[in-house]
Amino acid sequence: MVKAKWWIYQIIIPLALLYGFPWIFNNAHTIHVAQTFLITYIVIVGLNLLVGLSNQLSLGHVGFYAIGAYLSAILTMQVGLNFFVSIIIASLITALFGVIVALLSLRAKGPYLAMVTIAFGELVSIIANRWVDVTGGPAGYKTSVPSFFGIELGPIQYMWFIGLLAIIITAAATNIFRGRFGRTFTAFGNSEVASEVLGINVRNWKVLAFSISAFLAGVGGGLFAFQNQFISSTTFEINLSILFLIAVIIGGSGTKIGPMIGTAIIIGLPQLLYNFVDYHLMIFGGILLIALILLPDGIVGAITKVSYFKKFSSKNRFNELGNLQSGESVTIEFPEGTDDKLLELKNISMHFGGLVAVDKVEIEVFGGTVHGIIGPNGSGKSTTVNVLSGVYMPSAGTILWKGKDITKYAPHSVAHVGITRTFQNLQLFEDLSVLQNVMVGFHRHFKTGFLKNLLYLDQVSNEDQHYAQKAYDLLRIVGLEERAYEKASDLSYGEQRLVEIARSLALKPSLLILDEPAAGASTIEIEKIMDVIQRLKNAGLSIILVEHHMDIVMNICDYITVLDFGRKICEGDPETVQNDPRVIEAYLGGEEVNQLVAGTRSIS
Ligand code: ADP
Ligand code: MG
Repeated sequence: MVKAKWWIYQIIIPLALLYGFPWIFNNAHTIHVAQTFLITYIVIVGLNLLVGLSNQLSLGHVGFYAIGAYLSAILTMQVGLNFFVSIIIASLITALFGVIVALLSLRAKGPYLAMVTIAFGELVSIIANRWVDVTGGPAGYKTSVPSFFGIELGPIQYMWFIGLLAIIITAAATNIFRGRFGRTFTAFGNSEVASEVLGINVRNWKVLAFSISAFLAGVGGGLFAFQNQFISSTTFEINLSILFLIAVIIGGSGTKIGPMIGTAIIIGLPQLLYNFVDYHLMIFGGILLIALILLPDGIVGAITKVSYFKKFSSKNRFNELGNLQSGESVTIEFPEGTDDKLLELKNISMHFGGLVAVDKVEIEVFGGTVHGIIGPNGSGKSTTVNVLSGVYMPSAGTILWKGKDITKYAPHSVAHVGITRTFQNLQLFEDLSVLQNVMVGFHRHFKTGFLKNLLYLDQVSNEDQHYAQKAYDLLRIVGLEERAYEKASDLSYGEQRLVEIARSLALKPSLLILDEPAAGASTIEIEKIMDVIQRLKNAGLSIILVEHHMDIVMNICDYITVLDFGRKICEGDPETVQNDPRVIEAYLGGEEVNQLVAGTRSIS
């Protein structure tokens, strides 16, 4: 039944509208506007995946659009290919340009990324303008009327053709949105570092996002090349990139329906303002500006903020995976434990400029134990965790995992050997539900590929369902199953910490590193978190626990390493450490720890 509805909304109704449109609006101008709408919409769908989901700003999409247009035109006019074959080939080549831009801009974020993409768009613009022999420059390049097997497509048929593509692309994009690809795009758009430690190779995923987005811009450009049987370099300027971006933002960046609304506004509004001949651009700009200021989350965002729709949207948006079972009791699964030495940090140092955050530290972690790392604020605990999880490359020293050198591993590779972590400064995927956050943790275990996900085959939906249930089970373990469909950022601090723990358990780690899992949590929440850690320990999971709550550390840890000013000052079992004068000295200058040990004081 659910499936039938999906077909009606996504295929039958759009097809009927598309087919009926020329009968209702039967004039050349309207058909032309409808074509432009559909072409632009295809570009915006792609840009929305890039900007909306994976949070990669592109102000150079006009570059991809132009490449798609010129290549399609040239392949048809010079090489003699069918126009549609040309568009497909041209779009694939445009996707390669997407790969190049992605690789060039990998290290750039935010405004710098925008600058790289602007530079790319400008470069293409200039080439289109100056390379007159090939592109015709501003004077233009003539193409032909699109045709299939000798039958020419008139304006109405061409509109139908573009519309058909738009429907197919919408269905594919929707499938991406609801499956693991959309989740992964959103995840690294929210937190690259958290995605990495769950085994996601963010670089490859960015390249994928860019190439899909470039591909769709190429399709749009190709379709545009045959719309008027003429293209001119004056079309391909930066203001078009800006307009594309505005459509994404104003519609509601990262939403499924946003591109439709955004495109309708940037294409429709100028039509409505047509009568204000001299002023229409100014009014158009003004309306866009005001809309952007008043509706920072776009129109879809604004609508879903109205409480009635909010209930509707956040529950439904995240509830697609159906009814999850909470019948049977859940057990915690881990890879076979081992008592051997799992991890060895040898002579690890980490320098930040002149600052030595970690100084020749040696730590050995044995299987099945909880190994505490404690020390005053700024003593290098988090830095050690960052080095260990591959987030920082140590300045010196070696990390061995089961005897293997993993010092130079990127975080996702560290995750692949079975080490993952949580973060002192929470790194949840805030645009995803609690359940989806945990599902991203299963990244390493998902098998279905991109094409299958585009079609959302049964195999894909079964896989999603399977891991949704497993994610739900993990939420039961940390006691958050009732919050499964809420937005992760709506939870309290302590609850968010538990979500991070559940998410990292999804990886089925051999070693879990918890960086201050109780920081910022309330007393009751701290108890819950402690209980969870205790149960993980009982289940045999090896854990590195960084904590400053002494009572937690002393109760749970089997072995403790104490850092001070980046150096290891002491290690041993809790009792040894507790009584070591260097620790007492480092911690509180003595008195408080003495009271602690004597039991006359407790640290909260
Ligand atoms: P802890 O987790 O024990 O509180 P940290 O490992 O976060 O301590 O920090 C150790 C020292 O390293 C601090 O002096 C901190 O300011 C410094 N530090 C940590 N990360 C960075 C960084 N990315 N750049 C520069 N200094 C850093
Ligand atoms: Mg820290």
